[in-house]
Amino acid sequence: MAGLAHLGVGFAAKRAVPEVPLGLLLPCSMALDILSIGLTFAGIESHGNVPYSHGLLGSLIISAVVFPIALLISRNIRIGIVLSLVVFSHWILDFMTWPMKAVYADAEGVPVFFDNSLKIGIGLHSNIVAALIVEFLFLGAGVAVYIVTLEKIRKNNNSSNMQLTCRGKL
Ligand SMILES: [Zn+2]
Repeated sequence: MAGLAHLGVGFAAKRAVPEVPLGLLLPCSMALDILSIGLTFAGIESHGNVPYSHGLLGSLIISAVVFPIALLISRNIRIGIVLSLVVFSHWILDFMTWPMKAVYADAEGVPVFFDNSLKIGIGLHSNIVAALIVEFLFLGAGVAVYIVTLEKIRKNNNSSNMQLTCRGKL
């Protein structure tokens, strides 16, 4: 269940960067979790102890690193900023929802710095009802924004095709 809200942000980001495929936006929204899996395999992080991938400082550094990479590939500042923000949105959502006591009894907040630092969080996921509302609200809103954006892109494509056809007939 946890994770749907992050995907919602990935869907919604399509509106800001319609040229970026969903296949990249969704992994960006989950980038901190993907990194955490890698760090867990490497023995650096473990379940319930994710100071590098989910710490405030770590997340800021990771998001800051995404900006020049995205800029270099896309040559578009807007895409660089949006992808960087989508990556950081993961920390903001985790701050709102952690500690997820509705999911793990021993859950803690998100770390501020690295190992053994202060852990903070609003803890919306301490309550199963609040958790479900947050997850489905974010996912639903994100998918709705995505669908509206796709419709807009389709209409724009149709009207530019019409213009080309009209010009061709003149
Ligand atoms: Zn996470």
